[in-house]
Amino acid sequence: MAVRIDIDALRDAAGADVCAAADELTVAGQPAEINPAGGGVTGVIRAAGKPPYEVWVGVTADGFTTECDCAADTDLCAHAVALTAAALADGFAWSSTATPWSDAAVDPRVAELTALAQALPARRLATLVGEWAATDPVWESALRAQAGHSASRAATEHDDS
Ligand SMILES: [Zn+2]
Repeated sequence: MAVRIDIDALRDAAGADVCAAADELTVAGQPAEINPAGGGVTGVIRAAGKPPYEVWVGVTADGFTTECDCAADTDLCAHAVALTAAALADGFAWSSTATPWSDAAVDPRVAELTALAQALPARRLATLVGEWAATDPVWESALRAQAGHSASRAATEHDDS
């Protein structure tokens, strides 16, 4: 079942500061592209002097739900508001039963190792990945694909189906 997102109510809930930051991102053309994921939508937000943040928004059984790399104090960060605005501008068809990324079924071993990786400082993690990619062509092409095109995930899903 498709649902509507009330962007005005969302902006009210986010507050003026978050909305102002979100509007700056929107004016800057962020996110550059959106990708459907789990009945919701993802995008990568890039801003000067900041690491790229990947954010997911969707409507789950709990209502409007967001997940973002930025670890903001509030549920509703500027990245989530900017992504939602971009998806609405795109006419995205929201599912009412979306599955957040964190709930998606993952191999327990992958989940454990992912948790380990998440505990690393970003620079150290980047160095580790760079060192692996330099010694392993599979890793290198995976890294280049991720870095070169943020739509690669959606494209892969299409190829598999
Ligand atoms: Zn965020």
